[in-house]
Amino acid sequence: MNKAKRKAVIAGNWKMNKTPAEAKELITAIAPLVKDAGCEVVACVPYVDIAAAQEAAKGTNIHIGAENCHWEKSGAFTGEISAEMLKACGVEYVITGHSERRTYFGDTDVTVQKRTRAALDAGLTVIVCVGEYLEQREQGITGELVALQTKIALGGVTKEELSRIIIAYEPVWAIGTGRTATAAQANEVCAIIRGVIAELYDADAAEAVTIQYGGSMNAGNAAELVAQPDVDGGLIGGASLKPADFAAIVEAATKG
Ligand code: PEP
Repeated sequence: MNKAKRKAVIAGNWKMNKTPAEAKELITAIAPLVKDAGCEVVACVPYVDIAAAQEAAKGTNIHIGAENCHWEKSGAFTGEISAEMLKACGVEYVITGHSERRTYFGDTDVTVQKRTRAALDAGLTVIVCVGEYLEQREQGITGELVALQTKIALGGVTKEELSRIIIAYEPVWAIGTGRTATAAQANEVCAIIRGVIAELYDADAAEAVTIQYGGSMNAGNAAELVAQPDVDGGLIGGASLKPADFAAIVEAATKG
């Protein structure tokens, strides 16, 4: 597989952090540090920060994303935000299936598929998260599980639409824990996901799709992770809130 054919994407996932004023400050601090990035730079921010983040990102190479979306266009879904609404706000990216949504808010493979479908229909680029719990890794079912999560999430997604899909392999045991998958573990599962794409679509599609690693990626470990042949950047939680650390990860992805 030819890595040079794919653009790495480094996306921050701010989770439930930062007020609009703080969001403006953070984007303003990150922007000069990543201006020469050779990878795509994305900040996925809380809904209430979208306008402020966009304002601060204007004229920079930082793209703004959201952290979730509902699958219906509108209706009686108190507290939810639709993909259409995000698009109307100028959002370009959205995360679906993050493990924190699956663990704390009842997201399932089926709702992840629905959210992904709605996001594609609205014209967004989707970062679809998949990954195993530690018990599942210890049971030896990581590959099967991640393959199934990927297949369900991509149900009904066409080969053309795949250009707006990024898969993020995020082992749940590595998220926010400071415990990172080894570069070999990350690459192994990203390669399995690429194999699933080849099976569902074809070899060209597999070669073109961006597959990120996420899980305690930081300034110190990013270079080794993103240098792996099947790892095309990262989804970054904690370190995305620290401008110098996030910039170091972007630099690592630029070098590839
Ligand atoms: C994430 O939230 O997707 C994530 C990978 O978090 P962290 O980098 O903090 O582990």
